[in-house]
Amino acid sequence: MKVLVINCGSSSLKYQLIDSDSEGVLASGLCERIGIDGSLTYKPEGGEKVKKDLDMPTHNEAIKYVLDALTDGSSGVIKDLSEIGAVGHRIVHGGEKFTSSVIIDDEVIKAIEECNDLAPLHNPANLIGVRTCQKLMPNVPMVAVFDTAFHQTMPKKAYMYGLPYEYYEKYKVRRYGFHGTSHDFVSHRAAELLGKNYEDLKIIVAHLGNGASISAVKEGKCVDTSMGLTPLEGLVMGTRSGDIDPSIMEFIAGKENLDIAGVMNVLNKKSGVAGLSELSSDFRDLEEGADSGNEKARLAMEVFAYRVAKYIGSYVAALNGVDVIAFTAGIGENAPTIRKMVMEYLGYLGISINEAENGKRGEDLTISTPDSKVTVMVIPTNEELSIARQTVALV
Ligand code: AMP
Repeated sequence: MKVLVINCGSSSLKYQLIDSDSEGVLASGLCERIGIDGSLTYKPEGGEKVKKDLDMPTHNEAIKYVLDALTDGSSGVIKDLSEIGAVGHRIVHGGEKFTSSVIIDDEVIKAIEECNDLAPLHNPANLIGVRTCQKLMPNVPMVAVFDTAFHQTMPKKAYMYGLPYEYYEKYKVRRYGFHGTSHDFVSHRAAELLGKNYEDLKIIVAHLGNGASISAVKEGKCVDTSMGLTPLEGLVMGTRSGDIDPSIMEFIAGKENLDIAGVMNVLNKKSGVAGLSELSSDFRDLEEGADSGNEKARLAMEVFAYRVAKYIGSYVAALNGVDVIAFTAGIGENAPTIRKMVMEYLGYLGISINEAENGKRGEDLTISTPDSKVTVMVIPTNEELSIARQTVALV
């Protein structure tokens, strides 16, 4: 079956057409600057990537352009839309309502809408993608795959904050966690690569990308994760602060004369390694900067790695041990220096690293030595493939 995977953001839309039998990507690309001016990137399998500027006042036009590109007489990969068997949509927040992926119907849309105030920037955009696809492909089944669902197995002691209980009852304020599709995919893949039962392993997944989160998996279930009610909590990220003393918000608001929205903007967009380094959110720039003596770039990398190591340590406690640590996402897959910096804190676990293997990137790797007490792996994540698999399983 051919599955269209859609990841709709507020002004962007990523897509992949996946053949679920071969699990190959038939075409992929991105629409950007929707509602501003608009551009479409399209790359058919084995072909050249092309980028066109196109007028995209709304997501409606964007999705139409994607479907046109897929069915184009010369560069398209399908003859007509009837070849698309299903559409899988990434939905950021499923609240407590969704513990797994579901086929989309009116009731599901309503329930997703009810989670909108938990993810006001993401869920409405995700739903625009759903509605537009329904309009353009009325007979094709659609599936919602939630970023939060994988973490719904967390015990209450892990997801409750030390806040008045009534906020949980009234507003569902609790830890939800994100990047669930990735944590799910990578933890299962680790067990598969090791030839072990998923349920028998204690696994820590470090999803280190521009957004970054860690999860702890035990007896086949996620038992803790570092992101919270929103993706702001936890690790120091590209531009997000991660954990801070909450009082800093009031302090900075007073000093910088900012309202709550202004402070949130700083914490989400101007902090993290970008804020610390005053250079970049991208670890390629940070590594280059650090190598040429930029002290703030080096500090940003050190703060990042130290926070990752501390979270891993705390999850070893939560799991009462660990069998596998798996690195994934842009930094986790491609930055051996950061992996090494993190692992240097974890010698007490009996971890020893094979430097030559750690020097590689972008493939499934075991970077620990055979005598290491914990297996350390690098596993490229593939959220789109995971969404396609879950979509096919449901339709
Ligand atoms: P993601 O959000 O998973 O797409 O990750 C994007 C981030 O991965 C970028 O912002 C970079 O910080 C990092 N990254 C990507 N490629 C490399 C690389 N070759 N070396 C170091 N960091 C990288």
